[in-house]
Amino acid sequence: MAGFNTQLVHGKEIKDNNTGAVNIPVYNSSTYQYPKVGENVRWDYARSGNPTREFLEKQIAQLEHGACGFAFASGMAAIHAAFAIFRPGDHILIGDQLYGGTYRLLNQYFKLQGIAFTTVDTRNLEKVEAAIQNNTKAIYFEPVTNPLLQVTSVREIATIAKRHNLLTIVDNTFLTPYLQRPLELGADLVVHSATKYLSGHSDVIAGLVVAKTAALGQKIYFVQNALGGVLSPESANLVRRGIQTLGVRMEREQQNVAALIEFLQQRPEVVQLNYPGIAGTKDHAIAARECRGYGGVFSFVLDANTDATTFVNNLHLLKLAVSLGAVESLVELPYEMSHAELPPQERIQAGITPQLIRCAIGIEDCEDLIADIRAALAVARKKTAASI
Ligand code: PLP
Repeated sequence: MAGFNTQLVHGKEIKDNNTGAVNIPVYNSSTYQYPKVGENVRWDYARSGNPTREFLEKQIAQLEHGACGFAFASGMAAIHAAFAIFRPGDHILIGDQLYGGTYRLLNQYFKLQGIAFTTVDTRNLEKVEAAIQNNTKAIYFEPVTNPLLQVTSVREIATIAKRHNLLTIVDNTFLTPYLQRPLELGADLVVHSATKYLSGHSDVIAGLVVAKTAALGQKIYFVQNALGGVLSPESANLVRRGIQTLGVRMEREQQNVAALIEFLQQRPEVVQLNYPGIAGTKDHAIAARECRGYGGVFSFVLDANTDATTFVNNLHLLKLAVSLGAVESLVELPYEMSHAELPPQERIQAGITPQLIRCAIGIEDCEDLIADIRAALAVARKKTAASI
């Protein structure tokens, strides 16, 4: 089989030979002509299937080493599809540090449909095993969590799941198949917010599901076609194009992160750094075994003498914004932004303190990123000193 970067660039063979186009065209037709009544046609209606979307679906299935892929209008629509295969009365174990929108979907929508959830720290295998009930059907988690970058072993969770006949469902948004392929580690379904690394340019909202088997794929396809939350051909094309440069972007972003970590480790204002690439932790040991790299996101805690809000407000190159995984570097204050919906007590208990900063690093020159951070730290420090 070709190398991974070659697969990223070339994807599946294009069957459209009308023009010899090297990229799949954007097919903006909602419907397709039947030659005759009753004749079988490959395409009939674009919710059920679209050639541009299908190219992306085959591309992601190939990259994740799954049987089939499905493209949705957002990461949340993809996650919805993965949970929509369960029935009232089913019980699912979920990680205790999921993306906030996933909790909202599960607690405020799927619970009302009669599905029960138990939140568990998936890094604690004994707790996972103890939380399994007779009606448990699946374990769902994010192998690298946001914003604390804690790591769960996909292999170990999948081993427990198999022993109890449960599905393992993994949100692989943070690592992407470039760094980790959960299906190879024993998972059954992978979901993505393709809004992030896969598209890579902060210009599209998209979601993907990959099923390990055709049988599971049929269940996801039913949801995709019946509920209709499909990805548009234009957006499918943007994700397809983004995937071609996933490898070079990831490598560059990880190089930048390594340089920034080295810089921040020397700074007296930084009291804690969270990144699975930092050796000496259990998180690092798991990631080193199961991932090809540690990704482009890290977080850190500033000391009490450095004002976190002043710091992020004075960054210029790192843009103050939620989301991640794009060519430009983004920074956010989880306490005030991505996790503001949680009650303050819960935020603090989860380690999401007002001094925690999360960075999603892009492909800029790292000297410029370091200069930006150095200058903002100086302002945040001075301000605090002046106000004492
Ligand atoms: N999963 C993770 C890990 C995310 O970070 C996000 C969004 O931030 C989602 C899922 C939801 O994806 P989307 O915003 O594309 O609906």
